[in-house]
Amino acid sequence: MPNTRHLVCLSFDFDAVSLWMAWDLTSQTNISRGEFGVVGVERILKLLKRHDIQATFFVPGVTAKTYPECCGDIADAGHEISHHGYTHVSPVTMSYQEELDALRRGNEAIRRISGRDAVGYRSPAWDLSPNSVNLLLQEGFIYDSSMMAHDYMPYRARSGDVVQSDAIRFGEETDLIEMPISWSNDDFPHFEYVRGGGLQNADHVMANWLGDFRFMIADTDWGVMTYTFHPFVIGRGHRMLMLAEFINRLSDLGADFVTAETAVREFKQKEIP
Ligand SMILES: [Zn+2]
Repeated sequence: MPNTRHLVCLSFDFDAVSLWMAWDLTSQTNISRGEFGVVGVERILKLLKRHDIQATFFVPGVTAKTYPECCGDIADAGHEISHHGYTHVSPVTMSYQEELDALRRGNEAIRRISGRDAVGYRSPAWDLSPNSVNLLLQEGFIYDSSMMAHDYMPYRARSGDVVQSDAIRFGEETDLIEMPISWSNDDFPHFEYVRGGGLQNADHVMANWLGDFRFMIADTDWGVMTYTFHPFVIGRGHRMLMLAEFINRLSDLGADFVTAETAVREFKQKEIP
């Protein structure tokens, strides 16, 4: 393995209808808004195949059960299927038992699609409860992708932070590897029309995303940029054109495209002196 590696993980949160359900928006039009995710997935799978890229799809249990054929197409194309909750409800609002049940039910649904449990987890709405890290370890996950304490370098998630007014007491580092994300490298806030926001110019957003990759190249010999997309957001025509161009530009800059699982395993190998 060469010493200099600049990885890119293209991750797709296949929320489909589950996100609107979690927001209690279940009219037929809101359902159709989520349904467009299936059209988006078909377009994304074609694009990834053309570029021979393996990506990571975070799939809520509700999506896996509602769209088994589409999710099966993702798995059959060799992409990683990761856990994104059962419903799209944040674990912060759940009891210990509810969170555990959601993890197990979600993995049951994923097993039916991919034949194996997920090794990665991304919280719906990117928020973790005080129990999340320990529950993920207990249930056999090797990575999470919901936190923001770095941009390009994975790190060990902590358990047991105590937030108090004079100074925060950090908990112990665990074996759970964090694949950090950010709102700036997520398509949803830039593009999705919610409460008057979104609908940004795709080329301007791409310039921001490329800037983060360029910074990583200048700043480190090894790192991984994780970009987050939602099929019902990025799947619109002009954004798909941008995603294709984004992949070309990243390739020209020397990006190696990998799944989150591959990046995590490579990070763990590098971590051992
Ligand atoms: Zn989501």
